[in-house]
Amino acid sequence: MTQDLHTASWLDEMPQRLADIERAHLLRRRRVVQPEGGARLRVDGQSMLAFCNNDYLGRAGHPALAQAAREATHTFGVGSGGSPLVSGHSAANDALEHELAAFVQLPRALYFYAGYATNSGIIPALVGDGDAIFSDALNHACLIDGARLSRATIHRYPHADLAALEAQLAASPAHRKLVISDAVFSMDGDLIDIPALLALCERYDALLLLDDAHGFGVLGPQGRGSLAQAGLTGANASRRVLYMATLGKAAGVAGAFVAGDAAIIEWLLQKTRTYIFATAAPPLLASALRTSLALIAAADDLREGLRQRIAQLRNGLAELPPQLGWRLLPSHTAVQALVIGSNEAALAVMESLRQRGLWVPAIRPPTVPPGTARLRIALSAAHTESDVQELLLALAAHAADCIGARPEQATGTSAPSAAIA
Ligand SMILES: *Cc1c(COP(=O)(O)O)cnc(C)c1O
Repeated sequence: MTQDLHTASWLDEMPQRLADIERAHLLRRRRVVQPEGGARLRVDGQSMLAFCNNDYLGRAGHPALAQAAREATHTFGVGSGGSPLVSGHSAANDALEHELAAFVQLPRALYFYAGYATNSGIIPALVGDGDAIFSDALNHACLIDGARLSRATIHRYPHADLAALEAQLAASPAHRKLVISDAVFSMDGDLIDIPALLALCERYDALLLLDDAHGFGVLGPQGRGSLAQAGLTGANASRRVLYMATLGKAAGVAGAFVAGDAAIIEWLLQKTRTYIFATAAPPLLASALRTSLALIAAADDLREGLRQRIAQLRNGLAELPPQLGWRLLPSHTAVQALVIGSNEAALAVMESLRQRGLWVPAIRPPTVPPGTARLRIALSAAHTESDVQELLLALAAHAADCIGARPEQATGTSAPSAAIA
């Protein structure tokens, strides 16, 4: 046995550090899942009604997508074989890029294997030392990490506070300014005012990178996304906007893309390290995505169904007793955040729902700010009216347990409705 040179190694601290995060109710556990059709999942062997998927149109299990992937394996095999700049840019991936650009009505698109790699790679390709980044405080982790990797100066502005952003832009002497923002915020579900954001970028000669992971496929005409919903695509497209979206959520597959001005996209192709030094996504995924795009365009009925479930959920949550201190955040999207407060209380709600056969994730810091642990209820077109009703009844039952079933609350008539922030 080799003798350790150090009597106390930092590696020995790992069990203690794990115990620390467990004590803070921050230990995460993966569950082994298997789809069961509709919104149901087998979770660790137990059949559950799930409100945790970003598969907003319920399309991940669609047979047409699986069929497209299967057929593509006959032509392309399974792996892509290399980086897109060497040998990995298959005919399927190339066709998908053209279809993505046409779908979002922007000049050109670049297809990536993951959204995380897209944002963490394109930001350092656009700006660097001496440049400036302006970042919403609630941006997704991969925008934050891309900003850090770039070595540009980072100005973080309070969530959606465009006056604060304007003051920062006005004060910045940087030649290259980049504003980065989620379009739909992933843990709150609210939508940023895109025209106002773009107007600021125009005034201060900044480029706007919009991450529409949760709007693509769901918002805008035919699901073309939040930029199309804002009327800023096609003839009204601005070269100041780089539109990024992921393809593992409403599109039901995997991957991501960035679209915008052709010269900027060409620059990204030349300079993005997460693109150049990584194996291209397998062509079977691009093939499934091409089918998915066609389905998204034709899915107005699913989007309408989703809107109805959102309204049903919000109306139902507003009936929960206010003395719980739970807070439903304002959101018209499929992401509905019910802020519980402490990590422990949020986990208790999740556990109570789990025992009732419902799987709704509790989201804790650092994913959300301390003290705002929450249930992140993700709705999907796969949910039925009775699915949402089941969730509302389970939450009401847990709420009654929490406050002790006093008669005036049990009837639900005299209690004022929960605060909607
Ligand atoms: C999911 C998500 C990503 C990451 O995309 P992946 O394809 O899962 O890597 C990026 N941005 C936002 C806002 C997201 O929600």
